[in-house]
Amino acid sequence: MSEVFNVEEIFGQNLFTLSKMKERLPKNVYKEVVNVMNNGGELSMGAANVVAKEMKDWAVEHGATHYTHWFQPLTGITAEKHDAFVTHPDESGRMLTEFSGKELIKGEPDASSFPSGGLRATFEARGYTAWDITSPAFLKESTCGTILCIPTAFCSYTGEALDKKTPLLRSMEALSEQALRIVRLFGNTGATKITASVGPEQEYFLVDEKLYMERTDLMFAGRTLFGAPAPKGQEMEDHYFGVIRERVGAYMKDLNEELWKLGVTAKTQHNEVAPAQHELAPIYETANIAVDHNQIVMETMKKVATKHSMRCLLHEKPYAGVNGSGKHNNWSITTDNGVNLLDPGETPNENIQFLLVLACIMKAVDTHADLLRQSASDVGNDHRLGANEAPPAIISIFLGEQLEDVVSQLIETGAATSVKEGGKLLTGVKTLPDFQKDATDRNRTSPFAFTGNKFEFRMVGSADSIASPNTTLNAIVAEAFCEAADILEKADDLEVAIHDLIKEYMTKHQRIIFNGNGYADEWVEEAEKRGLPNIKSMIEAAETLTTDKAVRLFEKFRIFTKVELESREEIIYETYAKTINIEALTMIDMAGKQIIPAVVKYTKMLADTANAVKEAGADASMQVELLKAVSGKLAAMQAALTELKKVEAQASAMADVKAQAFFYKDTVKVVMEKLRTPADELEMIVDKDIWPIPTYGELMFEI
Ligand code: ADP
Ligand code: MG
Repeated sequence: MSEVFNVEEIFGQNLFTLSKMKERLPKNVYKEVVNVMNNGGELSMGAANVVAKEMKDWAVEHGATHYTHWFQPLTGITAEKHDAFVTHPDESGRMLTEFSGKELIKGEPDASSFPSGGLRATFEARGYTAWDITSPAFLKESTCGTILCIPTAFCSYTGEALDKKTPLLRSMEALSEQALRIVRLFGNTGATKITASVGPEQEYFLVDEKLYMERTDLMFAGRTLFGAPAPKGQEMEDHYFGVIRERVGAYMKDLNEELWKLGVTAKTQHNEVAPAQHELAPIYETANIAVDHNQIVMETMKKVATKHSMRCLLHEKPYAGVNGSGKHNNWSITTDNGVNLLDPGETPNENIQFLLVLACIMKAVDTHADLLRQSASDVGNDHRLGANEAPPAIISIFLGEQLEDVVSQLIETGAATSVKEGGKLLTGVKTLPDFQKDATDRNRTSPFAFTGNKFEFRMVGSADSIASPNTTLNAIVAEAFCEAADILEKADDLEVAIHDLIKEYMTKHQRIIFNGNGYADEWVEEAEKRGLPNIKSMIEAAETLTTDKAVRLFEKFRIFTKVELESREEIIYETYAKTINIEALTMIDMAGKQIIPAVVKYTKMLADTANAVKEAGADASMQVELLKAVSGKLAAMQAALTELKKVEAQASAMADVKAQAFFYKDTVKVVMEKLRTPADELEMIVDKDIWPIPTYGELMFEI
């Protein structure tokens, strides 16, 4: 019945890997490619031409007809414009496919319709795409044929980043450079590069296509804007890790196969907490490839779902009342000679390096908690963060009992300070106790948890690109490494200086450590006492991008200029306003054209019945009561609908984007809730046959 496939055989089948380049390219060109990959710089035009030809030949052999520079504009999703390999036919009418080095390296899409937050207007610059040689090209198969996709960065002509990839690459360079300074202090001279590795766990919902098509809110907003709770939700906890339903299983099988072909190491799959919610986790990879692959995962999830007559919902909160979806971003930093800086290690030397790295991360996260929170914000995530199912909007670090104990020892006892005795340093923490990775309590409520040899940043939203969180993480940690290295490189007695610095950083930034229940109200109070920021929404977080502190950080490492940061802040307001506007208009549409007319029909039925009962001489008080209740809620809906139309029009007319975004949050969203409440109450009492849209029960259980 099911066809057999061999993972080893299909893995990377649609990927132009380094090994394929090695096979196909002349030695000197291959060497040049590897050199640019590892050390940066540009390919010579001669080499680029050879690579382009081989890449094209490989693609054409696999059925490709077009190529595209595949990029990640600030919309958060990917963009592509296909160009056929077609050229002018020769005199004999024969056409030979062509693809030049220039076309490979650089593209000039007409970029005027992508969000730029005023950047392009300021600089009157066109956007261009530049090949990210470190992320392999791949073939995308779809109904429009097979397309060679070349991962690229997207910049303005004057070099401002117009995408999510460019700053990420810049942050990776900064992190590598500064982390190298740290490992050198510990005598690691062999490392030449340090990379951030990322493994994102992607959550998603599946819904039947037919039901989806009957829900304008799912189609336009990606989430339900109306909907009473189903009699059964997630309270039985029977879905999490439960047996995967046949239809979903067939989907997962196809999805894995597609992803493996593209070289995505899809590894773990399981049911999540909410009904119809699932997760897929790939094996971690270098940050920029992980970012590309996560985009491919999201895209493929949607594509494969339609093949199975389903739809994949990546929205952070498709349904009220059950868990939403997030994306745990697992992050670590490793040298090219194989040392994971977040691995506590087995020798005192490694331990101390680990403790210094940990101290720097504590400092980075505490200093830039606001930026980190910002990096995980998108419109949908506002429904999750702080809403008792995801980590709160307050950033804190979870270390686990064992490590927290080490940190408090270091802070409290003099033993960990620079006491020298007989020429030997008494660290108090000569070696960490045999550190058991799995012994760390898996505290699911912490937004930033140490899990053995990596940090798990759990705030990220399911629909969001993971580029921003990783750019921010890399940048803030690079800054802390840089500041530490500035001090330590000048120290007379390095060992003493390292220990003093660890103690200083840990003492100063211990407020960021929290091992308790992040969902508890007491934590919100406690965090406030500690002075930790609690930024409640995406738009309130936006201005953290342009504080002096943020500008200093990002400019120092040339990740963003002030102007780029300002443009990104503006885009956040724009995106927010546009998204809520779509939601408001969709609600107006559904309420006015579907729900209210259906309820009106129902009131007529009730009135007719009541009259008939009365005429027949019986007691119609029950029917009359019901009619009154329904009519009351109907009136409330109608009033809220009128109000929503009014405030939506007011919002749309506003010129200042920031004020507009806040008006959407503080006024329009409030009226949207006012419209939803009576509608959901009506759903509970109106005849099921009359209710015009599929219910939560159907959406979540009929799959
Ligand atoms: P969980 O138990 O947290 O749900 P999963 O297996 O779903 O774990 O996901 C863990 C993710 O962390 C995977 O993508 C995995 O590859 C990734 N990961 C493991 N080790 C590291 C590391 N050192 N650096 C970055 N990511 C890692
Ligand atoms: Mg997981």
